[in-house]
Amino acid sequence: MKKIKAIVFDLDNTLIDFMRMKGKASEAAIKAMVRAGLKVNKKEAWAVLQELFKMHGIEDQKIFDKFLKKTAGSVDIRILAAGVVAYRKAKRRMLKPYPNVRRTLAALSKQYKLVIITDAPKFQAWTRLYDMRLEKYFDFVIAFEDTGVMKLKKMPFKKAFKILKLKPSKILMVGDSISRDVKPAKRLGMHTVLAKYGQFREERGKADYEINDISEILKIV
Ligand SMILES: [Mg+2]
Repeated sequence: MKKIKAIVFDLDNTLIDFMRMKGKASEAAIKAMVRAGLKVNKKEAWAVLQELFKMHGIEDQKIFDKFLKKTAGSVDIRILAAGVVAYRKAKRRMLKPYPNVRRTLAALSKQYKLVIITDAPKFQAWTRLYDMRLEKYFDFVIAFEDTGVMKLKKMPFKKAFKILKLKPSKILMVGDSISRDVKPAKRLGMHTVLAKYGQFREERGKADYEINDISEILKIV
């Protein structure tokens, strides 16, 4: 790889084990709502919640309102409160960087500009970074609001080139998704790394490099 100057990271499932957190927090929320009086079969409730996340997006902030409407026919505010509190508590407990993330970012940030491009809302992205005390390693975050389009498009990447004042060939992209991280970055001429450990969906396509632990980047650059 020619000398690179900056590294762009995806956030969820690349730096943070997001899907694991989401699963555990959802489980905790369902349990708490049942304890508070919701009459559902836990297995069915789980399926309904997954379906709603698929339909309304994983960042939907009113997902438990929708869940209660769907399962109980209406929203009992007390049950909603039980679910939301359990969800938040589990989330705080479960939201963690993958192994070696801090050490790797600390080393890389001494030599390269580090930035994040995410499809998550900007506020959620920064709160997740502060929660995990990773915020200091990053120069900026490009989130959905910055361009109004998802990463499948080239705009969020082009925005990063502009702010960094760098050509794509000087930048390395690291992400867990072939379609949202690797493909658009490759098409624009960036170097690409697939974070295999975060991949939760099989996709066709290939990155320049594949890693099973984030610290392997240190050997690539
Ligand atoms: Mg991701």
